[in-house]
Amino acid sequence: MTTREGSLEAPTRHPLNWKSADFYDENKLNEELERVFDICHGCRRCVNLCTAFPKLFDLVDESPTLEVDGIPKEKYREVVDQCYLCDMCYMTKCPYVPPHEWNVDFPHLMLRAKAVKFRKGEVSFRDKLLSSTDALGKLASIPVVVQMVNAANKAAPVRSLMDGMLGIHKDRVLPEYDSAKFRSTARPDDSFEVKDGKTTPGKVAVFSTCYVNYNEPGIGHDLLKILAHNEIPSIVVAKEACCGMPKLELGDLAAVARNKDLNIPVLANLAREGYAILTAVPSCTLMFKQELPLMFPDDADVAAVAEAMYDPFEYLVSRHKDGLLKNEFKQPLGKVSYHVPCHLRVQNMGQKTRELLEMIPQTTVTTVERCAGHDGTWGVKSEFFEQSMKIGRPVFRLMSDSNPDYISSDCAIAGRHIQQGIGGGEAQKQHPLTLIRIAYGL
Ligand code: SF4
Ligand code: SF4
Repeated sequence: MTTREGSLEAPTRHPLNWKSADFYDENKLNEELERVFDICHGCRRCVNLCTAFPKLFDLVDESPTLEVDGIPKEKYREVVDQCYLCDMCYMTKCPYVPPHEWNVDFPHLMLRAKAVKFRKGEVSFRDKLLSSTDALGKLASIPVVVQMVNAANKAAPVRSLMDGMLGIHKDRVLPEYDSAKFRSTARPDDSFEVKDGKTTPGKVAVFSTCYVNYNEPGIGHDLLKILAHNEIPSIVVAKEACCGMPKLELGDLAAVARNKDLNIPVLANLAREGYAILTAVPSCTLMFKQELPLMFPDDADVAAVAEAMYDPFEYLVSRHKDGLLKNEFKQPLGKVSYHVPCHLRVQNMGQKTRELLEMIPQTTVTTVERCAGHDGTWGVKSEFFEQSMKIGRPVFRLMSDSNPDYISSDCAIAGRHIQQGIGGGEAQKQHPLTLIRIAYGL
C-alpha cells in the first residue's frame, strides 16, 4: 500500500488528550517527537515559518547519523522552546494533518512537550510571572503603582536589572499599564432594540481580555462606540478571568482549566441568552473558539461559548452582510498598512478586518500576512528577543514600504512590536477598531 502525499480531506483536529497518564509519559512523548521530527525532516516545508524548524534541521545536520535518530533526546527541548504555538504550521503548511494517516499536529505536540516540562517543575519564575497577565495587570494598574511601573519599564538601569535578574530583554518596549481599567470605565449601552440578523445575533457581550482591560482600554471603548453607533445593544461580561492562553503557552494546563471554570459558566449563560461574545484580542478569541473545545470536547458549555464567540470584525462584516451595519464613513484614512496576526489567520474566516477597512472611502489598505514574531510573551524574553526581531524584519519592511499614514494589527501586541521594529517614521499606530471609530467620525 502506498501513502498518499498530502490529504484530500478537510483538516480535522483531535481533542487534546491532556488528562491521560500517557500524555505526560516522557518516553512516550519522546517516541512521538522522534516520529514527527522524522516526518518533518523528510518534508521541510515549514523551514521559513519560525525558528523551531531550522533548529530541528540544524540538530539533524549535527547528528552523527545525519538523521533524527542521531539527535540526543535531551536536545528535543531546544526545538520545543523555539515554538510559540502560533499554529501556522498546522493551519497553512502541513499536508499530513489528520485525517492523513501520519497524523501530524506539530503545535499540539509542542504543547504536550511544554506540559511535560511544566509538570516536571522545569519552568522559570520569569515564565510563570509573565503568563500571569491578570494578576500582573491587577497589581500594576493600582493608582500610584501604575506610575512607578510605567516609569521603571522605561528606565534603562531598571531594564538592565530586569534583563539580568528576570530575563526580560532590556530593549523590548513594554506596554504601559492604565489605572483607568476598561472594565471599571466602560460605558456599554444596552438601550437599543435587539435586531437579530440572518447570520448575527442582535446583541453583544464584550469579553474585555487582560490586555484591553489593563494596557489599552481605548480599544475596548472604541469597540463599544462602534456598537452604539450601529445601535447594537451591548454589555460588558459581568465577571471574567484571563482566557488562559498565556498559561497554555507555558504548558500549565491545570491553570487553563481553572480559568475555564471561572469564565465558561458566565459566558455560556450569555451564549444561551443569545448574545454574540466579542473579544478584541485574536489569541483570546482563538482560545475560546479552538483550544478550550479541544481540551474539553465533551463540555456543552464550552461548545456553546465557542459557537457564540466572534472576532469583532467577523461580527461587523457579517452584520454588514445582514444589512445592519452603517457604512457612511466621514473620515478617510489614506494609506493603511495592515498586519494580519497568526492567531487571526488560523481562525479561518478570511480577512474581515481588511474587508471593513476597504469600505472606507479614500482609503487604501496594504495587507501583510506574515508572522511578526512577537508571539505573546515569547518575544519579551531575553533569549528570544533577537530572534523575535529577526522573524519580524520582513514584516517591518513590508509594513513601512508604502509610506503609510497608519500601521495597524488586530493583535495590539504585534502592533507595538511592528512599531518598535520600524522605529520612528510618520505613520501612526492604531488598532483597526480605533481606525473604524475614527472613520465613523466618533
Ligand atoms: S506552531 Fe508556530 S512557532 Fe510552533 S512550530 Fe508551528 S509555525 Fe513554528
Ligand atoms: S509540520 Fe508538516 S509541513 Fe511542516 S515540516 Fe512538519 S511535516 Fe512538513
